[in-house]
Amino acid sequence: MQNTQEKTDPAADSALRDLTPMMAQYMDVKKQYPDCLVFYRMGDFYELFFDDAVAASKALDITLTRRSGKGEEIPMCGVPWHSHESYLARLIRQGFKVAICEQVETPEEAKQRGGYKALVKRDVIRVVTQGTLTEETLLETQSNNYLLALHEFAGDFGCAYVDVSTGDVMIQSTTSADLSATLARIQPGEILLSEKTLQNKQLFEVFAEYKSRLTPQPNARFDAENAKKLLETLFSVGTLDSFGTFTRAEIAATGALAAYIDLTQKGKLPKLSTPQRIVITDILHIDAATRRNLELTETMTGERKGSLLDAIDRTVTAAGARLLAEHIRMPLTDITLINQRLDSVAFFVDQPKIRHDLRGLLKSMTDIERALMRLSLERGGPRDMQALMKTLGAMGAVVRSLGTDKDWPALIKESVKKLNNWGTHHPLIDHLSRALNEQLPVLTRDGGFIRRGYAPKLDELCLLRDNSRQHIAQLQAEYIKESGINTLKIKHNNIIGYFIEVTGTNADALFKNARFIHRQTMANASRFTTTELAELERKIGEASGKALALELELFTLLRQEILSHSTDIQSAAKALAALDVAVSQADIAAEEKFCRPVLSNHKTLEIKAGRHIVVEQFLKKKNTPFVANDCGLNTESHLWLLTGPNMAGKSTFLRQNALIILLAQAGGYVPAESADIGIVDRLFSRVGAADDLARGRSTFMVEMVETATILNQATEKSLVILDEIGRGTSTYDGLSIAWACLEYLHDANKCRALFATHYHELTSLQSRLPALSCHTMRVKEWQGDVIFLHEVGDGTADRSYGIHVAKLAGLPTAVITRAQTVLERLNNKSDKHSTKAGLDNLPLFNMSETTPIAKESAAEKILRDVNPDSLSPREALDMIYALKAKLN
Ligand code: ATP
Repeated sequence: MQNTQEKTDPAADSALRDLTPMMAQYMDVKKQYPDCLVFYRMGDFYELFFDDAVAASKALDITLTRRSGKGEEIPMCGVPWHSHESYLARLIRQGFKVAICEQVETPEEAKQRGGYKALVKRDVIRVVTQGTLTEETLLETQSNNYLLALHEFAGDFGCAYVDVSTGDVMIQSTTSADLSATLARIQPGEILLSEKTLQNKQLFEVFAEYKSRLTPQPNARFDAENAKKLLETLFSVGTLDSFGTFTRAEIAATGALAAYIDLTQKGKLPKLSTPQRIVITDILHIDAATRRNLELTETMTGERKGSLLDAIDRTVTAAGARLLAEHIRMPLTDITLINQRLDSVAFFVDQPKIRHDLRGLLKSMTDIERALMRLSLERGGPRDMQALMKTLGAMGAVVRSLGTDKDWPALIKESVKKLNNWGTHHPLIDHLSRALNEQLPVLTRDGGFIRRGYAPKLDELCLLRDNSRQHIAQLQAEYIKESGINTLKIKHNNIIGYFIEVTGTNADALFKNARFIHRQTMANASRFTTTELAELERKIGEASGKALALELELFTLLRQEILSHSTDIQSAAKALAALDVAVSQADIAAEEKFCRPVLSNHKTLEIKAGRHIVVEQFLKKKNTPFVANDCGLNTESHLWLLTGPNMAGKSTFLRQNALIILLAQAGGYVPAESADIGIVDRLFSRVGAADDLARGRSTFMVEMVETATILNQATEKSLVILDEIGRGTSTYDGLSIAWACLEYLHDANKCRALFATHYHELTSLQSRLPALSCHTMRVKEWQGDVIFLHEVGDGTADRSYGIHVAKLAGLPTAVITRAQTVLERLNNKSDKHSTKAGLDNLPLFNMSETTPIAKESAAEKILRDVNPDSLSPREALDMIYALKAKLN
C-alpha cells in the first residue's frame, strides 16, 4: 500500500500556519485519511495538494502546478471530474487508495447556513481501494475482485472474502501450511490483516508475494465479539447462527471485512448474499506453484491468453465467465456434486438445438449482479435499472428455451426454479417498464429518465417548464417585431442564464428602449434582459428544479423496490451464470470432441487418447495435428517413468493428464476419447522452474522447495507430475536426488505420479519397484534426422537427442559438430572406464586432438543454406555477387 504520509511535508507545515479557509477544510479531511490520496472536489475538477499532488502527478504523468496560499506555494494537480474514473483506475492499479471528497451542499445551502462568505461543506463520500471497486470501468468483467480479511486464532486461519461488485461472500478456515495455496486460489485484490498477523515471521514468505495488496488494520478490528454485532447488521439477521457455525478466527475475519466495507463505503452497505462456507477438503487442493506451472487461469507471464481458462472459455455472459473461472480455480472432490455439473453439460451436449437457442438468448444478457450492487451502494444509474429490467424480463424466454422439464437434470431444475420467479409479468419488471424511458441518461442527476404518464405531478412540472420554454420563443418573436432587429436572439448560458443578444451595431436601439435592461457588452454583441424574461426564467428554473427533485425521489423509490428483491435477483443471476457455464462447456465438448469423464474413488487414471487443449489449439493455428496419447495408472502400476528425447512431448503429456483431472473435477467434459478418473485430493506439479530472486532463491533451490512440498504433502489419493527433477545441479547430485524421490513416491507417498526424466539410469528401478513402469516418447530416425512422433509407448529411451534439438534451435554448425565429437567420446569412455575417468580425458580439455572451433562466416552460412538445384542461372549469379560482397 502506498502511504502518502510517509514523508513529513515541510510545505504543508508552513502552509498550515497560514491557511485559507478552503485549505483548512482540505487539511481537516486529509488528516482523517492519511493513507489515501484525497480527491478534493472543486468545480469541475478533483484537486490534489501537497504530497498527494506530487505522488499523483508522477503516477499519472500529469502537470504539477503550484497554488499560492497565504504562506508558501502549495503543490497541486487536478483531474477533470467527468473523466476521473480512468485516472482513478490507474492510481488504484498502482496500489494507491483514493478518498473522494465531494461538496455535500449547494452554494445556496452554504449561503443560507453561513452567509455570503460561507464555504461549501465537503466530506469524503467514499474511499476507493483495489478490493472495494464496483465500477465497470475499473473492473475486469471476466473475473471476480475479492477483498479478503485474514485472522489467526490458535493456529486456525480464518479467511473471509467478498466481491463487493457482486455481493458474493465466502468464509473458510485454513492452516499456516495451506495459507499460500488458499491465497493463490482466491487471488484477492486486497488483503486485510491485523498488525499482529503481519508480524508473524512464519508467514513473511507467504505475504511477500502479496506485498502491494496488503492493508494492515488495527488489531481491535479483529475482535470476534464486536464482529458478531457488525455481521448481524451487514447480513440483516438476528443471529449469525442461521448461517451455520463459524470458528472464532472466521468470525473475527468476517467482522474486519464488514468494518472495512463500512469505512470505505461510508456506511452504504452493499447487499451481500448469504455467506458460503468453503470446506477445504471439499475442493481439490492445488498449491501456488502447481497453479502457476499448469497455467490454469493465467500464463507464467500473467496473461489470461494462453491459459487453460482462456482455451476452454466459451461463456457469453460476464457472470458466466466469472463462474467458470471459479470452477477452474476450485475443482471439487465430491463425486455427487461433480456428476451433477456433468449431468447439466451432458444435457446440453445431447440437445444441440437447445444449446444454440439458449446461447443466443444469453448473449443479450447484461451483468445484473454488478448492476444490483452499484444500485445498492447508491452508485447505480437509470441504465442499471434498465439493464435489470431487460435481463430479468427475458428469464421467461430462457426457461422456455430449455424444453420440457422431464429431461432436466437436477442443477438445471434448480436454475429454472430461480428463474421462474421472473418474467415480463413480474410486478417489478412491469413497474420499471412503466417508469423508465427508452433512452436514458448515464447519470441520475441529468434527469429525464422517467417516462411521461408515470407520475402526473412530474408531467405537470415538465409541462410548465416546456411551456415556459415555448413562451421564450414567443417572446423572441415579439422583441424582434418591436425592435425591428431580425437577428435578435434569446440565448442561455450557465453563468447569466437567459438573455437577449444583438450585435454591437444593433445595440443602440435597445439601449434607447426602457423595456430592455442592459447586462453585458461583448466584443461584437450586447446582452439585455427584460422583466418578463427574468420572470419566465424563474418559472423555468423552479419547474426544472422541482421536476428533477421529483425524478430523483422516484428514482430512490424504484431503487428501494429493486433492492427489496435483491435476494431473488442475485439467485436469478447465479442461475443464469450456471446455465451459461454448462452450455458453454457443452459447446466446446461437442465441437472439440471432449468426453464425459467417469469418476470413482479408485486409484485410477485411465485416459484414452487424451489431449492438451492449449497446445492443441496452438498447433491448430499452424495446421499441425496434435497426437493424442493414453495414460494408465492404477493401484498396481501407479508410477510412470517417462523418458524420451528433448522436444518429444514429455512435459505436454504430463500436463495434459493433470489438466484433464482438473477439468473433470471442475465438472466439465475433458479432451479425450474416454477418461476414468479416481478422485484426486491434491494435485502437484513440479515442472521447469525459474529463479525466485525476490525471495532470494536460486533455480535449484526453488526446484527443491517445490519437490519437498510434494513429498511432504502428497497422499495416496494425490496426483503428482514431476518433470526433470534434479536437472538444476551436477549430474550425480541430480540423478541421486531424482532416484531417491522416485523411491519415496513409490514407497511412502504411494500416490499416482508421472515422472519425466533425462536420467536414463533411473529406468533400472523398474526391476525393484513393482508399481513403476517405464514409458517413452517415440521418435524415428530418418536420413540422419530425428522425427518426433509425439507418441507415448512402453519402454525406455536410449538417447536424448539433445544435440539434434540444439541444431534445430540454430546453434552454429561448428558447435554442433564439436558437441557430437564430445558426445561420442563420452559414450565410448563411459563404456570402458568410469564416467569420471572418461571426463578427464575428454577432447574438450585436449584441444590438440581436434580442429579448433571457428565461428562460421556469413559466406559459409549462405553456402550451407543454399540448395543449388533450386537456383536459376540468374539467381546463381546473384548469389556469387552476394558471396563476394560478404567477403569484402
Ligand atoms: P524437453 O525435454 O526439451 O523439455 P519435452 O519432451 O518436455 O521437451 P514438450 O515441451 O512437451 O517436450 O513438447 C515440445 C513441443 O512438441 C511442444 O511445444 C509441441 O509443439 C510439440 N508437441 C508436444 N506434444 C505433442 C503432441 N502430443 N502432438 C503434437 N505435438 C506435440
